[in-house]
This record gives sequence, C-alpha cells and structure tokens, in this order.
Amino acid sequence: MKTVAVIGAGTMGPGIAATFARHGYETRLYDIKPEQLEKAKGTVDFVYKTLVAGGFLTEAEAETGKGSITFTGDLAEAVKGADFVLETVPEKLEIKHAVIKEIEQHVSDDTVIGSNTSGIPISTLAEVSKQPGRIVGMHWSNPPHLIPVIEVIKGDKTSQEAVDTTTAVAREIGMIPAQVDRDVAGFVENRILYAIMREALHLLDEGVASAEAIDTITKWGIGYKLAVIGPLELLDVAGLDIYTSVASYLNKDLNSSPGISPTVTSKVEEGKLGLKTGGGLFEYTPEEIQALTQKRGKLLLASKKALTSA
Ligand code: NAD
Repeated sequence: MKTVAVIGAGTMGPGIAATFARHGYETRLYDIKPEQLEKAKGTVDFVYKTLVAGGFLTEAEAETGKGSITFTGDLAEAVKGADFVLETVPEKLEIKHAVIKEIEQHVSDDTVIGSNTSGIPISTLAEVSKQPGRIVGMHWSNPPHLIPVIEVIKGDKTSQEAVDTTTAVAREIGMIPAQVDRDVAGFVENRILYAIMREALHLLDEGVASAEAIDTITKWGIGYKLAVIGPLELLDVAGLDIYTSVASYLNKDLNSSPGISPTVTSKVEEGKLGLKTGGGLFEYTPEEIQALTQKRGKLLLASKKALTSA
C-alpha cells in the first residue's frame, strides 16, 4: 500500500497528508476550494519546519516529504489508483455522504475509505456506500502531526479487513492505533475528554477553585501521569479495593448533568469564544496567543520525543 488520498484540506487535512508523505506514501491532497489548497501548502511547510526543529526529520527528509504530496482540485485525479482514502471534510453528514458517493465512483473495489469524523456514527456514514464494509473510522487528534494516537472505529458493517488495513496503515506512518469495537457517540477519546471537561467546568461553576488552579492540577497531576499510565492501569496501581471505597462516596458527588456549564453559556452569549475572540475562560492578547501556540507545539514535540524514545 503506497498511495493515499486525503479529501479536505482544512484544519486537519494538511497535517495528515504531511504525516503520510513523510512515511513514504505518494499522497494526494484534495479540496473543493482552491484557496484552501494554497493555504494547505503553507501549513505543510510549517508542519515540516516544526518536525525538523523538533529533531524528528532532517531537512532532506522534509523535502522528500513535500515532494510526495500532490495538491489537487480534481477529486477523480486525487483518488484514482489510491490504496487508501481518508475523508476529512467538514463534520456535516450531507457533505460527508456526497463525498463518499463521489469517491466510490473513482476507486477500485478493494480501496478502504476512512473517515476522520469526530462524532458521526460510522454506520450512518456508510449508509450511502455501495460497499459499507470498507467504510471505517480513522480518527486523528489535532494537531495530527504531533498527537500519536489514532482511533480505528468499526461501524456495524465495517469489515475486519478494513479495520486491519487501517490499523496497519496507522502503524506504518508511525502512529499508535487503537481499535474501537462499537460505534458509540464520541468514540473513546472524546467521551473521556468530555467527562474531564464537564467535571472541570463544574468545579469552576461551583467556585471550588480558579480556572488557573483547575488546569494546573489537571496538567501537572492527572495529565502528566496519564501519558504514562492509562486510567485503567492506574486502577490496578491504586488497588481496586481503594477505588471501590473512594468511588462509593465520590461518584455520587461528581457532575452527571447533561446540561452545559452556566459559565460556558454566559461566555458564549457575551461572544467570548476562546482564542479565536481573544478571550474565553482566560484572556489573551494577540501576542500571547502566538507565543502560547508556539510554546504548546514545542512542549508537545518534546514530550512526544521523550515518551516515544523511552
Ligand atoms: P475544516 O472545516 O477546517 O476543513 C474541511 C475542509 O474540507 C475545508 O478546507 C473545505 O473547503 C473542505 N471541503 C468542504 N466540502 C468539501 C468537499 N465536498 N470535498 C472536498 N473538500 C471539501 O474541518 P476540520 O477541522 O479539518 O475537520 C475535518 C474533519 O475532521 C471533521 O470531520 C472533524 O470533525 C474532524 N476532526 C477535526 C478535529 C479538529 O480539531 N479540527 C480533530 C479531530 C477530527
């Protein structure tokens, strides 16, 4: 398997294409909008620069990677002869359905079609497919060139072959795949993330601690540990008897509300949406946003290096 097509060159597509290309895949990146393809060229350059600066790639490897990507506004050209196609178009069912139908007109019967959807059930995506067995979830995290995990999601009709192919492709490009056996909303990663965010917001709403303190405790306590020991492994370390006694009083007290945090609701009403408006739960100047983004990228690279080489 050596040729892939990435369909959609927005936030996720360019970093994903750069990851495939640097691992020896002939990569086609397609978008319906020419301006997105232009922007994607700059993003691919930025991704490779970041990886070179972090010591993951040499300049020469970055050049080879860049040379392996074809940017195209022609879907048929993008997917023709591709062994694997990944759609990363907007999270709108009608767009994804149209794209899957169009891809299927140009690929061979054994091409696997992955979707980077964050939450649309794979079984729903596969409803329009002539071969639903080949539709599989391949969920990357943002930024895709820095976060190692890929969730490989099996829809009701996804064949084990498609799951195995996607898992093998993910390994070949240096990622860490994990299979999700059932197509539940949010899959695994977002369910766990949203459980953490719900409790963090609840603590903020209740005035238990400041936003700064909640994030400091999460980052330097739980987060720091979780990259090394998963929550289920942690249970064995702590002891299931200890967990049983703590959970028997603590679970009742944890937030289980389906509603949205009042703090978030009022911030949204005020138009304070986060980095994109210069403020949300925290305030940022434009200079701080740039510095923070750079610092976070550097720290993610450093921790990836440390964790993958240990
Ligand atoms: P985006 O809106 O930034 O980019 C989507 C791109 O698809 C745009 O460039 C758009 O022009 C293009 N597009 C629209 N219609 C198209 C069509 N018919 N054919 C080809 N291209 C088309 O979206 P994104 O944030 O990159 O997300 C893409 C997918 O990845 C979504 O399913 C999203 O849920 C998922 N995802 C996003 C993130 C994230 O943090 N952004 C993380 C994980 C998964």
